[in-house]
Amino acid sequence: MATVEYQRIGKSFGAFNIMRDISFLIEDHQFVVLLGPSGCGKTTLLRMTAGLESVSEGDLLISGRRVNDVHPRDRDIAMVFQNYALYPTMKVYENIAFSLEVAKLAPVDIKRRVEHAAEILNLTPYLQRYPKELSGGQRQRVAMGRAMVREAAVFLFDEPLSNLDAKLRAHMRTEIRQLHNRLRTTTIYVTHDQIEAMTMADEIVVMRAGKIEQIGTPDDVYDRPASKYVADFIGSSAINFLTGIVVANQGAPAVETRAGLIQLDPSLNVTTGQRVICGVRPTDVTVDPHGSIVARSLLIERMGHEAQLCCEGPEGQFLAIVDKSARFETRADIRFSIAPDKVHVFDAATENRV
Ligand code: ATP
Repeated sequence: MATVEYQRIGKSFGAFNIMRDISFLIEDHQFVVLLGPSGCGKTTLLRMTAGLESVSEGDLLISGRRVNDVHPRDRDIAMVFQNYALYPTMKVYENIAFSLEVAKLAPVDIKRRVEHAAEILNLTPYLQRYPKELSGGQRQRVAMGRAMVREAAVFLFDEPLSNLDAKLRAHMRTEIRQLHNRLRTTTIYVTHDQIEAMTMADEIVVMRAGKIEQIGTPDDVYDRPASKYVADFIGSSAINFLTGIVVANQGAPAVETRAGLIQLDPSLNVTTGQRVICGVRPTDVTVDPHGSIVARSLLIERMGHEAQLCCEGPEGQFLAIVDKSARFETRADIRFSIAPDKVHVFDAATENRV
């Protein structure tokens, strides 16, 4: 049972500050994903939590106890690394048992814990094999087994699936989430893969250049991105952005863009003349001969269950998810409509949601 709390955490390497003012609380049992592009500081925040990196500013609390200066061994955490860090000369059993042997647990307890973890992780048939005799997914499970047997209060995962192929990655993310549903150990999981974040997290912490951009459930960050940056980062096809000026149209606000008029939800807090950026997901764009947005078709990418129509708009690429049987002429002007409640509006100057 554990909470993790960051209170105004900052980090500098020498004179170079890479993170400041990180504050949030991870509740007991939560599965929290730190998400952001390479270099945004997510691994550093995880390593500070583990005690592998010092905290330059602020307080780090695990279950209410300040652990800034507590040795990694005494923080009651277990970490799974990207490269698994298995010992190649030890069999699976020994790899999983290693930390318990170092901690001098009774052999009978070690055996019980290793066998229990192996059973949960479907590793029982492989206990006498060496890591090199395992598949990538099995190695990944051994790495999780090593964390599990320690019965730590917090699990930390650092991009644990990035060395696996796409299919196995999808499978392992389900397994890790199922494991969490069974064990309910407070978990912090670092990734730059928004699909992993969306499918696994109770809460996502979106990071940008050493700061938090938004914290929310997967639905929060998808349906109500706090900034253009978050809207751009979340979603499996790239969101379309169209810039324009707010005008009044038929008693409601609308945005005049170079691709056409976008009607907005009347409840939005915008002012006439305001320069804004409209974000519209390709799934929220409908091909409609009476639509007010125009873009020129370039090609259609068939993805099995649906298709993506790639167009060229006045501000660059414009994407629409369309029926897979749809046919379009190349380089034809296509009209689209967009429901007002599907438009994400950001102030053009601040790029924050209005
Ligand atoms: P990635 O996904 O590429 O691992 P990340 O979001 O996890 O990226 P970090 O590894 O936390 O990012 O790095 C954040 C920033 O801190 C980067 O600009 C990086 O260059 C810098 N940094 C990390 N470790 C050190 C170090 N030991 N010394 C100096 N700068 C560092």
